[in-house]
Amino acid sequence: MKQRTIKQSIHTSGIGLHSGKTVALAFHPLPDNQGIHFERSDLPNNPRIPAQAALVTDTMMSSNLVKDDVRIGTVEHLLSAVAGLGIDNLLIQVSAPEIPIMDGSALPFVELFMSAGLVEQAELKQFLQITAPVKVETEDKWAELVPYTGYELNFEIDFNHPAFAKDYQRASLNFSSDNFISQLSRARTFGFLKDIEQLRQHNLALGGSMENAIVLDDAGIMNSEGLRFNDEFVRHKILDAMGDLYLIGYPIIGQFNAYKSGHALNNKLVNKVLASPECFEVVTFDDNVRCPISYFL
Ligand SMILES: [Zn+2]
Repeated sequence: MKQRTIKQSIHTSGIGLHSGKTVALAFHPLPDNQGIHFERSDLPNNPRIPAQAALVTDTMMSSNLVKDDVRIGTVEHLLSAVAGLGIDNLLIQVSAPEIPIMDGSALPFVELFMSAGLVEQAELKQFLQITAPVKVETEDKWAELVPYTGYELNFEIDFNHPAFAKDYQRASLNFSSDNFISQLSRARTFGFLKDIEQLRQHNLALGGSMENAIVLDDAGIMNSEGLRFNDEFVRHKILDAMGDLYLIGYPIIGQFNAYKSGHALNNKLVNKVLASPECFEVVTFDDNVRCPISYFL
């Protein structure tokens, strides 16, 4: 299985969740073995930040990369799309300190990459294969990566709120049998009205609306169109985790299990794996049939 990038450059724009301002985004192919890089097109000398877990310095509501005081925020939905389509090498130029929120899911990014087209490169794709369990926990929340033939993500949340039906707080995505694009990429982010009002008082979430999030009040879902899936909330948590886990620098061969995890704990897990060389190895497959992961195209 070979590395992938996009066939041609492509651009779009969207609203920054926190600033409420228009943000320009451009994507460009990168050569083999370069990885995923962000670039601030609005700053002098266009500083670059590689998509690496070690550079995550702030996990307040989203995953944010900071290098030499240059910041790129809210990277997780975009990285989830990049991971889901199996893109290894990509340059992402952004004109603000945050990736635009789009519709609150990863679907707009998936559609953009599909319209640019994907191209196979010369070098073999490198996977990080989990060879021994790694677990992190805080209070009652936990997340782990364990050995598994393929890539599977299992997530459970526990919200005591009328919009969160008991049967729909657990979900699973298996990369060998489930379709990332139709089953996961459409799941939107969600927030509680009282939290959003509080954020606004601190000049945050100025771009947040029912156009880019599921908004909940004490009674239930405020969006008139309702949910895209009965279990959209927990599916979105898997979407987030996929983006956060891609900061490990490779697609993963393993099983991710999590209970009430979020960006901070996901990042802690990735950093713990990278600090435990006895728990993983980097592998390639010169034969697609032997590779336990398949990407839908
Ligand atoms: Zn999210």
